Amino acid sequence: MTGPDAPAHPTEHAVPDGLGAVDRPTVSFELFPPRNPDAAPRLWSTVQRLAAARPDFVSVTYGASGSTRTTTRQLVRRLLRETSLTPIAHLTCVASSRADLTATIEEFLDEGVRSFLALRGDPPADRSWEPHPEGLPTASALVELLRDVERRRCASSPAQAVRAATRPLSVAVAAFPRGNAGAGSTREQDVAALLAKQRAGADFAITQVFYDAGSYAELVALARDAGVTIPILPGIIPTTDPARLRRVAELTGVPVPASLLERLDVFDPGDPADVAARHRLGTRLGVDLVNAVLDGGAPGVHLYTFNQHGPALDLLEGAGLGGDAPSAHLRVDPPRAPAAPATTPTPVPTT
Ligand code: FAD
Repeated sequence: MTGPDAPAHPTEHAVPDGLGAVDRPTVSFELFPPRNPDAAPRLWSTVQRLAAARPDFVSVTYGASGSTRTTTRQLVRRLLRETSLTPIAHLTCVASSRADLTATIEEFLDEGVRSFLALRGDPPADRSWEPHPEGLPTASALVELLRDVERRRCASSPAQAVRAATRPLSVAVAAFPRGNAGAGSTREQDVAALLAKQRAGADFAITQVFYDAGSYAELVALARDAGVTIPILPGIIPTTDPARLRRVAELTGVPVPASLLERLDVFDPGDPADVAARHRLGTRLGVDLVNAVLDGGAPGVHLYTFNQHGPALDLLEGAGLGGDAPSAHLRVDPPRAPAAPATTPTPVPTT
């Protein structure tokens, strides 16, 4: 449907048309584009292993971890052409005019991308947020732009209109279980922002990292009270590597519970046996979090992989969401481990 009476978006809460089984919670992964050409083969091997878990979609960051419009586009294009995965392209408003953003959206749509994660993005560490003088101030404005571009394309081309009817555009947005410390906003302000994103045409939200199921449950309760009806997918980071958790805390402003770090820090990072034991403990704690959010009604889990398949797949397997991925002991490669004698692998405990 096109024209002035068309709804802001053609279907309610369109989710990407991935391969995930329909009788389980959704499973999805975040990847970032390779930082340099040397990292590309390793990332591709990770993609292939993650694909065995039959994710509903795989999201690709933009402007984070050194990624650019070009590297994001290259990875999204390769996922579309060479796999059966459904990629979600992240987009941000940072340093882009409305015309730049429109051109980027057109490029993605021309390549067959139908799913986006619309974000405002963050300024460089030493600056405060300033929209581009001819740009967009918030993620909700970017959601509106995505819907506008799609509507215009449908109005000008019957082929596009058919494509839109058969493969509706899906627009995801960010949500923040404890407020967005990086942007200096409280959970209440971010719930107001989430409602604005829903009104602009967002289909579902993915949360920032968090470490306790209560934060997620409270966000969902507050959002529902405010009138947010779209699904809110919990974003979960495998808690196997304390150095990574500390780095993520610096980047996001989300503190890692001291009790979690204490438990992970007792292991010697130079001892392969300790690293393997830490991996098992971190996986078990992650499984507990996944089970708690699912028990609390979460529609699925979105895993921040940091381009590593092992921790993400072990977490899924421990939670019974592993799909066709091979069993954990075939994947877990503790760093610097000496060649191990053939032994029965220790299964990842789930309680
Ligand atoms: P917005 O929703 O625009 O919010 C920005 C600020 O404005 C907030 O403080 C918000 O409270 C306030 N605000 C907006 N609208 C309203 C309103 N109507 N009422 C009250 N307050 C309002 N960054 C990247 O650079 N690249 C990525 O690929 C990337 N991927 C991410 C993926 C996920 C799942 C998440 C959770 C974050 C990601 N980020 C990424 C980080 C994100 O860009 C930042 O956290 C940014 O600070 C906020 O983005 P936003 O889309 O929530 O912005």
